[in-house]
Amino acid sequence: MKLNQKTALITGGSRGIGKAIALRLAQEGANIALVYAGNHQAAEETKAQVEALGVRVKTYSCDVSDFEATKAVVQSVLEDFGGVDILVNNAGIVRDGLVLSMKEEDFARVLSINLTGAFHMIRHLYSHFMRKRSGRIINISSVVGLNGNAGQANYSAAKAGLIGLTKSVAKELAGRNVTCNAIAPGYIASDMTAALPEKAREAILSSIPAKRAGTPEDVAEAAAFLAGDAASYITGEVLRVDGGMSM
Ligand code: NDP
Repeated sequence: MKLNQKTALITGGSRGIGKAIALRLAQEGANIALVYAGNHQAAEETKAQVEALGVRVKTYSCDVSDFEATKAVVQSVLEDFGGVDILVNNAGIVRDGLVLSMKEEDFARVLSINLTGAFHMIRHLYSHFMRKRSGRIINISSVVGLNGNAGQANYSAAKAGLIGLTKSVAKELAGRNVTCNAIAPGYIASDMTAALPEKAREAILSSIPAKRAGTPEDVAEAAAFLAGDAASYITGEVLRVDGGMSM
């Protein structure tokens, strides 16, 4: 097992892509600190599934957009597990709409969770990783952060910002043996995409060369690779997991 004795902190780890990443890293032997917003039932179900893989797991309810709350959670995780080796910034939401009618609060909320939330977690673990002289940071961006998307200006801006954050942190921490990479998933079947209207889903599917939606497990494989020793010389990279959608 590649991640024995490691601890992974995963935001949005209770459902969808984050859950698949939690299970995949646990399969490799990593202990899991799972941060979620408020769906306690989903968090408990995921916790039980991770536990069944024989690793330690704890859940922490917290809004990643809250600087002080994330600071307290990181502190608790460090005390509970004795350290963090892998940080996966995966928590995210959408509030779609054309810019013409987009509410100010919908723009701000998407930025504060998808982008500022990742900054908070990195900020609170920064000195820990520096002192350890090792660490893996994986930010879950999106292909719309690379290409933009009509109706998702807030979300695309947040995901593009995440790529800038990734590259800057990668440059700051590379000398300390800490890598920071982004994954840009395409269209992945999850609660988030299940909310899309049928017509929109069909249009997206027909634009994917692989002719299928991605699975959370497809993204989790990429995360497991970036978290492992085999990726130690890869930093500042944006790895697309999109079935060719954004070629
Ligand atoms: P889901 O909606 O299925 O899950 C979202 C997760 O994020 C849940 O665990 C949720 O917790 C958590 N979360 C939401 N808001 C907060 C918050 N304020 N603080 C802490 N946790 C929060 O999303 P997906 O699995 O589909 O997406 C995961 C990531 O992947 C997101 O960043 C998304 O933007 C990105 N992505 C998804 C794609 C897709 O096609 N699905 C494509 C490209 C990128 P709770 O259960 O408690 O609400």
